[in-house]
Amino acid sequence: MSTREYPLGISFEFFPPNTDAGREKLLLARDALAERRPRFFSVTYGAGGSTQARTHNTVRQVRECGITTAPHLSCIGSEKAQMRELLNHYRDDGIDSLVALRGDLPSGMGGIGELRYANELVEFIRAETGDHFEIAVAAYPEAHPQAPSFEHDLQNFVRKMQAGADLAISQYFFSADAYFHFVERARALGVEAPIVPGIMPITNYTKLARFSDACGADIPRWIRKQLEAYGDDGESIRAFGEEVVSKLCQRLLDGGAPGLHFYTLNQSAASLRILDNLA
Ligand code: FAD
Repeated sequence: MSTREYPLGISFEFFPPNTDAGREKLLLARDALAERRPRFFSVTYGAGGSTQARTHNTVRQVRECGITTAPHLSCIGSEKAQMRELLNHYRDDGIDSLVALRGDLPSGMGGIGELRYANELVEFIRAETGDHFEIAVAAYPEAHPQAPSFEHDLQNFVRKMQAGADLAISQYFFSADAYFHFVERARALGVEAPIVPGIMPITNYTKLARFSDACGADIPRWIRKQLEAYGDDGESIRAFGEEVVSKLCQRLLDGGAPGLHFYTLNQSAASLRILDNLA
């Protein structure tokens, strides 16, 4: 077990499982990751609120180990009254950290709702609950896929921070320069809060390529080509992925990143191996 301390700290993200086997797997991962004393765990929220109850139940289970666990919350497609009710529900249940998002509407599902963007959600949470919640928001070092330009997205990011967010967690990326550039630009526009890089361990090329297409994260050509060349040789993919992502994390920390947020996909092994490789 590592006893290393991290400046802002590491954090690990889970998704709400929908089977008993999935729940067992998640709790095993949680126990292994809890030994690294993360600053917090977080639990994702299905588009349009589709996993609201499962997110909350998963938060309750995950936090039983004593580590702060933050539900993600997305506002698109919701009315203010629903959001108010959910925030009160979370507050009454002792939750004091949130990851506040706009989210994405699944096709064919309802209208946009009263809160259209994450900055409006952050404003709403602050107006309704003051300083009760620590609020994290999303950042996109390679720009959000729907943004017409990097500049436009950066301005919207600043708006979200000014609305009262305490920290930002980035979309994953494989170019440290993209992260440093984003942080530098955000700082120049007055953002002082920590911007924690989101880290996606590489364990499966097909899934990674699918996620990356959907969320706009660039897989550099040299990484793609190498992963493609391994075909279905999972062991080589994992070994190469571990090396690439460990070096990325080391560069980020050496360059001043305030912590690391791991997208675990409810698995612990890859994140733990990366942490073990860090100086
Ligand atoms: P916003 O910050 O609102 O931005 C969305 C788009 O609108 C951007 O293009 C932005 O430039 C633009 N925009 C923002 N504000 C304005 C404004 N005021 N006026 C005009 N344009 C504006 N998705 C889930 O479904 N569940 C999750 O649990 C989840 N967790 C995530 C966690 C992290 C750390 C990250 C990085 C992403 C996560 N996502 C999750 C994905 C996220 O929901 C999508 O990327 C979504 O499309 C945008 O959400 P946002 O909060 O970043 O939106």
